Amino acid sequence: MAKLETYLLSDTAEVTDDDLFVGGVNVSDLAKEFGTPLFVYDEQHVRNRCREAVSVEGVHAAYASKAFSCRHLLQVVASEGLGVDVATGGELGIALSAGVDPASITVHGNNKSLAELDQAIEAGVGKIVIDSFDELDRLEFLHSQNPARVPDVLIRVTPGIKAETHKFISTGQDDTKFGLTVSNGDAEVCIEKALKSPAVNLLGIHSHIGSQVFSVESLVKAFQVIAKVAAPYDFDEIVVGGGIGVPYVAGEQAPSINEWVEAIKAEADAMGVTASIGIEPGRSIVGPAAMTLYEVGTIKKIPGVRNFVAVDGGMSDNPRPIMYGSGYEAFCPTKMNDQRKLTAHVVGKHCESGDIVVEDAQVPESLQVGDFLATPVTGAYGYGMASNYNGVGRPAVVFVADGDAKLVRRRETLEDMLACDLI
Ligand SMILES: *Cc1c(COP(=O)(O)O)cnc(C)c1O
Repeated sequence: MAKLETYLLSDTAEVTDDDLFVGGVNVSDLAKEFGTPLFVYDEQHVRNRCREAVSVEGVHAAYASKAFSCRHLLQVVASEGLGVDVATGGELGIALSAGVDPASITVHGNNKSLAELDQAIEAGVGKIVIDSFDELDRLEFLHSQNPARVPDVLIRVTPGIKAETHKFISTGQDDTKFGLTVSNGDAEVCIEKALKSPAVNLLGIHSHIGSQVFSVESLVKAFQVIAKVAAPYDFDEIVVGGGIGVPYVAGEQAPSINEWVEAIKAEADAMGVTASIGIEPGRSIVGPAAMTLYEVGTIKKIPGVRNFVAVDGGMSDNPRPIMYGSGYEAFCPTKMNDQRKLTAHVVGKHCESGDIVVEDAQVPESLQVGDFLATPVTGAYGYGMASNYNGVGRPAVVFVADGDAKLVRRRETLEDMLACDLI
């Protein structure tokens, strides 16, 4: 196969002779300076996607921080006018520590503890998304303890739409742990209960049918169901969640954030919906913004069987291939003009045969031990799902923009990994 399709690279990527530059910085210089594996985020790319998300009047956006969260990224996103979505007390803590305005934070998640709900109300978050009758009970209990506090809430409803995506990240069908079912009337019962409850101020409803969704039509269809649920009430807000997909490999195409937002808004207008529409993009903001840089450590060629190229990371920095069978591309950032004629499994350094970074990757035949190898589109659900498996520290994270590189998270050390051992 040929060279890497450059549309898989971030907005400021530029190929000069054989080298790749991002944010005006030579990518191989980053690998030399900060070591590998290394996550490299294109800050301008993140800003450009944020701007798309808030470009349509009547639509507000919150960044789903589980896709990737660190203080610098949250500050960039907040500076572009997006709110921040969190799903746990930990994610809330990170957002608060980044200085995100609590009023712009939405707390969702399907099993928020009493302590997490209390922490959210105490912090003064903008909205709490009620995911079950049990959570409404918990909020009523907290209110009985302190009647002065009445949080603004949304109710997450499950519209009975099956998103065409991996079953682990499809969340809108009836058979799901998330939200209150529309088809059996639970959603309506919960809405009526919340409207009557002195413990909460119900602003509207929330939904999220899944992640890595390529079809704007299924997202519009979900919106129609949700808007019908909302129709009898005078809600301020209808939140449609996230889920627009991104291309990971050559040949994949995804709608832009803009196309998604405009389609939802057009449907809302056509249906006469006057509530403000909320979107919660995660993957589409950060996924294509970053690449992971590795160094090749071993090359094993077994004629007639397979070729293996082992890099210095793997399932600990990108668990998506082993979790979902996700595909990626691989390329050598110092051999951008070489045809990628060698087929090989790019594998990690972990003690699992499933520790595959890229299955049947195309790499240059001239690839050697010591070369850098990169995978594009690793900015979402990569670092955020990273682990210390095999005692491997999480990689460092660098943001590049305008010719400068900023180390925003250092590499994890052995001391970090031993910090919780008491004996
Ligand atoms: C994960 C999640 C999102 C973001 O989904 P992406 O596919 O990353 O855009 C939005 N809303 C909710 C409730 C989520 O759980």
